[in-house]
Amino acid sequence: MQDENLGFNSKAVHAGGFEDPKGSAVTPIYQTSTFKFKNADHGAKCFSGEEDGYIYTRIGNPTIEELENAVASLEGGFGGIATSSGMAAVNTVYLAYLGAGKHLVAHNSLYGPSRAIMESLYPKFGVESSFIDATDPENVRKTIKPNTALIYLETPANPTIGITDIAEICKIAHEHNIPVCVDNTFCSPYLQKPFEFGVDIVLHSMTKFINGHADIVAGMVIAKDEKHYKIMRPVMVNMGFNMDPHQAWLTRRGLKTLGIRIDRAQQSAQKVAEFLENHPKVEWVLYPGLASHPQFELAKKQMKGPGAMISFGLKGGYDAGKKMMNQVQMALLAVSLGGIETLIQHPASMTHSKLSKESKDAAGITDGLVRLSVGIEDLKDIIADLEQALKHV
Ligand SMILES: *Cc1c(COP(=O)(O)O)cnc(C)c1O
Repeated sequence: MQDENLGFNSKAVHAGGFEDPKGSAVTPIYQTSTFKFKNADHGAKCFSGEEDGYIYTRIGNPTIEELENAVASLEGGFGGIATSSGMAAVNTVYLAYLGAGKHLVAHNSLYGPSRAIMESLYPKFGVESSFIDATDPENVRKTIKPNTALIYLETPANPTIGITDIAEICKIAHEHNIPVCVDNTFCSPYLQKPFEFGVDIVLHSMTKFINGHADIVAGMVIAKDEKHYKIMRPVMVNMGFNMDPHQAWLTRRGLKTLGIRIDRAQQSAQKVAEFLENHPKVEWVLYPGLASHPQFELAKKQMKGPGAMISFGLKGGYDAGKKMMNQVQMALLAVSLGGIETLIQHPASMTHSKLSKESKDAAGITDGLVRLSVGIEDLKDIIADLEQALKHV
C-alpha cells in the first residue's frame, strides 16, 4: 500500500495509487462493464492471474479500485472490497465465514438489518447466532462454542452508543482462533482504527460518514491481511455485491473531506449533548464525550474522538418521541446518519420497529429513545431547532 507516511487528511485526499495516463487530477469514472485484452495471450494471463489487468467491472475496475485502496490505506488494512451497500458488505462477511453448522456471536444492539437477517434468513442455511451484551467481554467468552466461526461487533453500537472493548474481545476470540469483524460505520477510520486493536475484518456502510453527503448508498469490507482478503473477495465478486463505477467516484470525492467534516460535526455534537443533558424533558443522554457515558474511559482509549452520534431518552416515552419528530424544522426527519445535514429519528417507531419487545429491551432500545446525527450546520441553529421541538413534547 502506498502513501504510508502521510497523515490522515493527506491520505484522504491523495491515497489510492491511481495515475491517470492522460494526467487527469481526479480519477475518471471508468463507466464500462468490460475491458479489452491486447491479445489472446494477455487475456489468458489476466484470467490466470499471471498479469495484472482488468477483465470485467464486477471483478475489478480502476475507479472502484482507487477507492478500495484509499479506504484500506486509511484503515491500515491489506485491501478493500467495495460493495453496492453497507448490507452487501455485512453479507460478504457473513457468507465468507458462516455456513451450515457454524455459529456467530454478535453484540445485541446492532444496525437493525445486520441482526434481523441473522434471525430470519441465515437460519434457513443452518447458521446459528447468539446476541449478547458484549460491553462485558466475559460474556463473549461464555458464549463461544466449538462451532463459533465469527465474532461480529459494532462499536459504538447503533442506536444505543454502547461501546465494546475491541482489544479484550480480540484476545478472547484469538485464543479460540475465531476471526473478529468490527462494523466501523459510526466512527470511520478517522476516529477509530479497529486493526490497531487486533481485529481481522473491518466493514463500513460508506453511505454514512465516509461518503457523507446523503447522495449514495455504498459499502466496504477491509481485510487485515491477504488471507482474509482472499476468503472474502470471491464472495463479493460471485454474489454480485459489486459497486458501480459512478458510485465509487462519488464516494471517493466524499472521502476527501472526511476528517474536516467529522471535526466540525463532533465539535457541535459535544455542545448539543451538553445542551440535551441539561434539558428538563430529557431523561438521559448517551454520548461518548460525556463523563456520564458508562464507557467514557474505554471510549477515550479506543476512539480518537467521541464522534457525531448522540442518543437520548425523552421522559415522555413513545408519544414524546413521535411528537418531537413532528416538530423538528431544520434537522431532517430521516434515517441514515453521518451526513453533512443533521438527521433525527425515533428507533422505536422507525429503524428498530421490527424487533421483538424482548430484543429491543435486551438492546436497550427504549420507547423514548431518539437518535441524532449531528451535521455541519451552524451550532446555534442545531440547538435552536432542538429547543423549539422540545417545547412541544
Ligand atoms: C447504515 C448501516 C449499515 C447498512 O448500510 P447500507 O449502506 O444502508 O446498506 C450497516 N451498519 C451500520 C452501523 C449502519 O449504520
